[in-house]
Amino acid sequence: MPGGSVTPYPPGLLQRSMRALYPGSFDPLTFGHLDLIERASRLFDGLVVAVLQNPGKQPAFPLERRLEQIRGATAHLEGVEVASFDGLTVEFAGACGAEVILRGLRALSDFEFELQIAHTNKSLAPHLETLFLATAVHHSFLSSSVVKEVARFGGDVAHMVPAGVARDLEKLFNRSSPHV
Ligand code: ADP
Repeated sequence: MPGGSVTPYPPGLLQRSMRALYPGSFDPLTFGHLDLIERASRLFDGLVVAVLQNPGKQPAFPLERRLEQIRGATAHLEGVEVASFDGLTVEFAGACGAEVILRGLRALSDFEFELQIAHTNKSLAPHLETLFLATAVHHSFLSSSVVKEVARFGGDVAHMVPAGVARDLEKLFNRSSPHV
């Protein structure tokens, strides 16, 4: 083989399993998040998608609703669990046996913030790795805020979010909630 040979993988050697934690606000879940979840579910033996209860943020959707949206959209995926947490992400990663924290990158604008969080988490828990998956090009414009903005003004979000989330957005803005 040009450039040298590769040692064949020893047959029968047990591969260890690896779990990842995908934390976020998911307010609401978009096709960008879902694409990441689908791809990560093929990379890891277990994936915990966890909604962060952030007391500093007033979400558009209550925690239980966001969990239901994610459960509904990921029911077809093997090895994906849905949970919520508060407090430090690294502590929750430890509690669910995850060795990897998964995050997504859309544009350069995500990078600075994500790198800062990754470095902070590394300083708190050196055994944990943060892994970034690049967004699918056709989802690179998608964020929960953009989706809410479009839905608020009656725009079509069918290509941005799963059908269940689109229905929730319609209900939310028909009732014109004051805090959104
Ligand atoms: P946050 O956790 O900052 O509140 P979100 O809940 O919106 O943000 O997103 C969780 C993670 O998913 C973040 O790492 C974010 O960069 C990533 N993400 C969000 N939208 C997309 C997308 N369209 N494509 C890829 N990754 C995304």
